[in-house]
Amino acid sequence: MGQQAGRRSWAEPWKIKMVEPLRVVSREQRERALADAGYNTFLLRSDDVYIDLLTDSGTNAMSDRQWAGLMLGDEAYAGSRNFFHLEEAVQRRYGYRHLVPTHQGRGAEHLLSKVAIQPGQFVPGNMYFTTTRAHQELAGGVFTDVIIPEAHDPSDRHPFKGNVDLGALEALIAREGAGRIAYVSLAATVNMAGGQPVSMANVRALRALCSRHGIRIMLDATRLVENAFFIQEREEGFATRSIADIVHEFCSYTDGAWMSSKKDSLVNIGGWVAVNDTALFEELRNLVVLYEGLHTYGGLAGRDMEAMAIGIEESLQDDYIRARIGQVRYLGDLLTDWEIPIVQPVGGHAIFLDARAFYVHLPQDLFPAQTLAAELYLDSGIRAMERGIVSAGRNPLTGDHTRPRLELTRLTIPRRVYTQAHMDVVAESVKNVHDNRAWARGLRMVYEPKYLRFFQARFEPLPSN
Ligand SMILES: *Cc1c(COP(=O)(O)O)cnc(C)c1O
Repeated sequence: MGQQAGRRSWAEPWKIKMVEPLRVVSREQRERALADAGYNTFLLRSDDVYIDLLTDSGTNAMSDRQWAGLMLGDEAYAGSRNFFHLEEAVQRRYGYRHLVPTHQGRGAEHLLSKVAIQPGQFVPGNMYFTTTRAHQELAGGVFTDVIIPEAHDPSDRHPFKGNVDLGALEALIAREGAGRIAYVSLAATVNMAGGQPVSMANVRALRALCSRHGIRIMLDATRLVENAFFIQEREEGFATRSIADIVHEFCSYTDGAWMSSKKDSLVNIGGWVAVNDTALFEELRNLVVLYEGLHTYGGLAGRDMEAMAIGIEESLQDDYIRARIGQVRYLGDLLTDWEIPIVQPVGGHAIFLDARAFYVHLPQDLFPAQTLAAELYLDSGIRAMERGIVSAGRNPLTGDHTRPRLELTRLTIPRRVYTQAHMDVVAESVKNVHDNRAWARGLRMVYEPKYLRFFQARFEPLPSN
């Protein structure tokens, strides 16, 4: 009793109404499945996976309210009532004037890149994201990383590792001229840095700098709710402000945003792009017809938009986001206690294993993070994802691998899906793979697609000698 007195745990602010059975797969089956998948976890069948931590994208468990919302789908081709619910939710919570729905985040990135980037223009951003940069480059933009240097060090404990390096941005503006900058591509949180947040002070200062030069700020709002939690927790003056309020203020410093609703908004599909500028909106609204669908559905069913509108509200509840990030931290704390190298501090949606520190004997060209994802699957049927040299792709000018400093394997936690007991099983498997790390040999790539190669590349294990 004595030791437990005064202890107060958080718990999920929901209970379970429906369950989905999991499949346990034998070691022999896993070996076969992994070889069939070319040692790429993206190519595994989900039926061969036990605990699926590939991504938190579209893997959310919807609430009873959202499922009820599906039944209220108005599947009219034009002017669906669900579109107006979604528009209202985005205007109220994110604060932008004009909304264009898209089938998911990259649909929005495609439209925005096409209308807002002229070939040859620079697109400075706080670290790249795979689909974001791909669309910016397809539109002729030149992505330039302006994240603070601390973001590239997995052990640096800076509380806002997603911040923009304002000095680096200012230097770029001075060198190239404001006219050669399409917009600042601001992500909150920063997925590729380990789900690291941007501070309110940083976005305010960024606004001031960009306003002086007449440069727009476009926000990747995919994980902004998670970012708001870190502001509430870590930034002076925000402890008593609500998550909804923080999200709204953050957006007020930007000119527009795009969203993958498959993350923060607790749905399985959907996205949007929203802007304040009417001329820009009109171009987006026209282009969406060509690529996604009419501007009141953008590739979505009416029911999907209803679930998104409800999901936006649920995602902004303080007790929800505390439990969401609390679960990620629970796993992070276990691994930290066992001295397993992970990106610190733990971010909003995932644990990032530091594959360089795991496999000090493997050079980056033998794909240590890809190897670690494969070893984890072999050990327990847990599916993780590579975020290192494979994800970084090739330099479009030189054709050589881009060699990022961060070589990470991501354990992404779906929202409202797994329990604390699942997190224990995951931690124990990571520990076992860590204990056996000296035996890993690395991989070689035997098939490489041209775009976003990490999704479809195939590998073979190097022979042990
Ligand atoms: C997932 C994601 C995207 C792309 O969205 P999709 O819905 O997968 O197309 C863009 N930015 C960030 C930060 C993401 O996490």
